Amino acid sequence: MTRIARFSHGDKVSFGVVDADGASVTAISGEPFSALRTTGEPLPLSEVRLLAPVTPSKVVGFGMNYEPNAPQRGDAEPAFFLKPPTSVVGPGDTIVLPARAGTALHEAELAIVIGRKCRHVAPADVAGVVLGYTCANDVTATELPAAAGGQWAQSKGFDTFCPLGPWIETELDPSDLAVGCTVNGEQRQDGRSSELLTKVPELVALASEVMTLLPGDVILTSSPGGVGPMSPGDEVTITIEGIGSLVNPVASA
Ligand code: MG
Repeated sequence: MTRIARFSHGDKVSFGVVDADGASVTAISGEPFSALRTTGEPLPLSEVRLLAPVTPSKVVGFGMNYEPNAPQRGDAEPAFFLKPPTSVVGPGDTIVLPARAGTALHEAELAIVIGRKCRHVAPADVAGVVLGYTCANDVTATELPAAAGGQWAQSKGFDTFCPLGPWIETELDPSDLAVGCTVNGEQRQDGRSSELLTKVPELVALASEVMTLLPGDVILTSSPGGVGPMSPGDEVTITIEGIGSLVNPVASA
């Protein structure tokens, strides 16, 4: 188990390795895309602020990719969209709902974090380009007129609409993990990554067939059933087996 976090302590931002009991984090020198070299003393997690574990050049999103979507999707590939890097926030950060967005839905998703620059990756070679996995909330505003026409850039692109965290687990088999969401402690989503129609290796291969993937880029795998609205004042928790929980409050703009 190796958990890589990004955090601020005072005015310094670092990547670090979270210890086994989840109580402290030790900074590493540089970025986590090559051999990890810890530096300095462990810091209690209570004394640092966890940030989004990476700052991606892009977030590639896939949709319609869970078993309940199978009848709508037929033999087609999953929906393919982008979320801008400015939509990314970290653990504890507020999901801000602008009036323009209307109703916004929580979407609990297993997120793939890329560790190496790559293009045209074959599914069999995907393990070599993945750094690890984290939790994501693919926040989506569905009432915007453009969404009805299949244009998702606005619906999924608002600032704060891509919470990521709390850290990256680098030693994880993504093929059968519980993926859940609670809102104010009430269970809303409860799926398993084994229900993904297009699996993790094929998703990375598909994304890399279109665009060069860079270290730190994130691929969202789609959300199991139970997506639902979030309201100002809510606390939304995305939990993935083997990774941990990503908690974000919700507020109006
Ligand atoms: Mg989604």
